[in-house]
Amino acid sequence: MGQANVNKIRNLPMAGMILGFCFIVGMYFAVRGELHLLATILGSIGALVLIAAVAGYFIAGAISMRSAVFICCPACHAQIRVMGSKDFCLRCHIPLRLNEDGRWEAAATTTK
Ligand SMILES: [Zn+2]
Repeated sequence: MGQANVNKIRNLPMAGMILGFCFIVGMYFAVRGELHLLATILGSIGALVLIAAVAGYFIAGAISMRSAVFICCPACHAQIRVMGSKDFCLRCHIPLRLNEDGRWEAAATTTK
């Protein structure tokens, strides 16, 4: 069982947002401790990381909107979005693959 590609490409920007938030928290404690130079450095890095992460999140969203296709899951019959030639169902998380004839089918569950 794996994670759908449309969710996977959002993980890096999400990690960046958490990292940026950690810098902001660090800045807060630096301000409390009267370490103004450290607070400025942490605040600047935090702001940059957060801006980059938010931008990356929207870019990831735009990529998934453009390259993801809507299909009906062969196992749970839900309307799901898939990307590439191998993906996982967003609803039931079974592995799916694209056939040569352009149809999506449930891949063997042994493949990762
Ligand atoms: Zn499904």
